[in-house]
Amino acid sequence: VAHGHHPRRVLLKLSGEVFGGGSIGLDPDVVSDAATQIADAVRAGVQVAVVVGGGNFFRGAELSARGMERARADYMGMLGTVMNALALQDFIEKAGVPARVQTAIAMGQVAESYIPLRAIRHLEKGRVVVFGAGAGLPYFSTDTVAAQRALETGCDELLVGKNGVDGVYTADPRKDPSAVKLDHLTYERALADGLAVVDASAFALSRDNGLTMRVFGMGKDGNITKALLGEKIGTLVSG
Ligand code: UDP
Repeated sequence: VAHGHHPRRVLLKLSGEVFGGGSIGLDPDVVSDAATQIADAVRAGVQVAVVVGGGNFFRGAELSARGMERARADYMGMLGTVMNALALQDFIEKAGVPARVQTAIAMGQVAESYIPLRAIRHLEKGRVVVFGAGAGLPYFSTDTVAAQRALETGCDELLVGKNGVDGVYTADPRKDPSAVKLDHLTYERALADGLAVVDASAFALSRDNGLTMRVFGMGKDGNITKALLGEKIGTLVSG
């Protein structure tokens, strides 16, 4: 990652599933809790960028399996991520930290467009930057965008917050009781074993560009702040 010395800068990926609190739409209590934890880390001196998913609204692949044209369904999915981004921005500001939303699809009344150098400037000034609308490209996922944004904005680490699991397991712990949690994992193994905790293109992009990833569970109170501050929770994934 090409950057000079600067305070710890990280990219946090939050899936839409989290924001929905288990159903379609938004659970403001969940978003507020995540926002408060992010604000705490910013006050402790960490520069925080966020990529939000949109699975609590629409997933393009699911709509397309039910008859919609895939690319159009994917645009709906991307628009869902923007709603999550606006909600997160709102609660981060209510928690006392300035926040900006930048979207990969231009919508000037709602948010800034994605401008990497401006995003870096915001981070340097202690503002949280929330990236919405994914990559602006159908057939991509917000996991892959999270790795791309982390690389382009010079983040030290990609932090992937998960619901229901506290890291990467040898198999899906909800289906296989013999699954074991891993403290460390290489990208090669993640890809070879088909571990789907993050999608394969996100693993590959991170591997090819030397970005480390930490997958952690958001179930425990304060875990988002801990991950942002650099505590070694969850599973480290690296080259
Ligand atoms: N999406 C897309 N391109 C992107 C990012 C997202 O087409 O660059 C669409 C895709 O349909 C996806 C939906 O937006 O299913 C929501 O994103 P994702 O599934 O990654 O959200 P998460 O699972 O993290 O909630």
